[in-house]
Amino acid sequence: MNSHLDYLDGNAAAGELSRIFTMDVTAAEGQCAHCGATKRFAEAHLYMQGPGVVARCAACDHVLLRLVNVRQRVFLDVRGMTYLCLDTSQLQQSSK
Ligand SMILES: [Zn+2]
Repeated sequence: MNSHLDYLDGNAAAGELSRIFTMDVTAAEGQCAHCGATKRFAEAHLYMQGPGVVARCAACDHVLLRLVNVRQRVFLDVRGMTYLCLDTSQLQQSSK
C-alpha cells in the first residue's frame, strides 16, 4: 500500500448510477451495514480501477456498493448498506 489516495469521492459514481437510477444517488444518505455510520453517498471512497465501481465507507472502509457492467447487464450489490435514503422532493423539479 502506498500513501497516495487511490480513490475518488462518491460523486465520481454519478454517471454510472444515473444510468440505472432516475434520482441522484450521490445526494442520498446511506448507512454502512458494518459500522453504522450514516453519510451522504458522495462522501464514500470510490475505487474505479477494477472492471466496475466499488464504493467504500469513509469511516471504516467496508464495501458499501459494487457496480459491474457485463455486456448488456448491470450487476448492483448494495448489501454493504443498511439503507439508502433518497430525497423525493427533487422529483418534483424534474417533471417532463
Ligand atoms: Zn462503515
